[in-house]
Amino acid sequence: MADKNDRVAQNRPGAWYVDSQCIDCNLCRDTAPNNFRQYEDGGYSYVYKQPESDEERVQCQEALESCPVEAIGNNGDADADDVASNG
Ligand code: SF4
Repeated sequence: MADKNDRVAQNRPGAWYVDSQCIDCNLCRDTAPNNFRQYEDGGYSYVYKQPESDEERVQCQEALESCPVEAIGNNGDADADDVASNG
């Protein structure tokens, strides 16, 4: 499970994030290309843009569920997004 206290610095502010467990496998960038990018210097992905449409949210959710190391989370900053906080 992703840890919001372990988010990589490049994530754009908001609920969605990648944490430091990312192994740069490229899956999220394939699945949600609008929202995930590679930080080449670090060798990992980050949230380039928070999802804004239903389509982007579906793609991000698919990436979250498919990430092999569970490095994607969507509870990063509930105040900056309309995603309900679950604590
Ligand atoms: S799917 Fe997970 S491990 Fe793969 S690049 Fe994205 S965040 Fe990193």
